[in-house]
Amino acid sequence: MGERDRLRDYHGKRDFGRTAEPRGRQASSGEEPRFVVQIHDARTLHFDFRLQVDDVLKSWSVPKGPSADPKDKRLAVPTEDHPLEYEEFEGVIPRGEYGGGTVIVWDHGTYEPLSHDRKGRPVDFGESLEHGHAMFRLHGAKLHGTYALTRFRGDDESWLLVKKAEGRAQGHGTPDPRRARSVRSGRTLAQVGAEDRED
Ligand code: MN
Repeated sequence: MGERDRLRDYHGKRDFGRTAEPRGRQASSGEEPRFVVQIHDARTLHFDFRLQVDDVLKSWSVPKGPSADPKDKRLAVPTEDHPLEYEEFEGVIPRGEYGGGTVIVWDHGTYEPLSHDRKGRPVDFGESLEHGHAMFRLHGAKLHGTYALTRFRGDDESWLLVKKAEGRAQGHGTPDPRRARSVRSGRTLAQVGAEDRED
């Protein structure tokens, strides 16, 4: 499937004459795959968790955000694939448009795919997602360590995002999204909303 087909849902939901979100053209660079976590103050305040798989960002809406505490099981609801350039997107999606509201880039970086089969042999990361269970180690500015995304049995719309316990000090969960700052610009949602609304 080409990039254009994979982004059909993404393109179908947006009017690029009205939103500054990227259309998506960039090809995969062949370097370490990227991840990004955005905070999105739309109809409901949520986090968007995205992992690069080939030339798109596979995406989940995570209402409470990723937690660094292995005891937290965070619901993650799949959303449409996004273009790779979406990692850079921070700003205001106009009211009335799909996803209207303010977006900040809370964290980004690279990840190591760690998915394996029941015998411990490495498997293709994209395939492991299709089968409903993927493991990866995040190297972000804020998020570090191994996480797993696992689909609920028999339910395509519900996944869990969970940090693996790794013997080090336990993490502290997720900060308040209204106080959290962009890893790109240091700004809060309110600051981006106030500064970008006039654009
Ligand atoms: Mn969102």
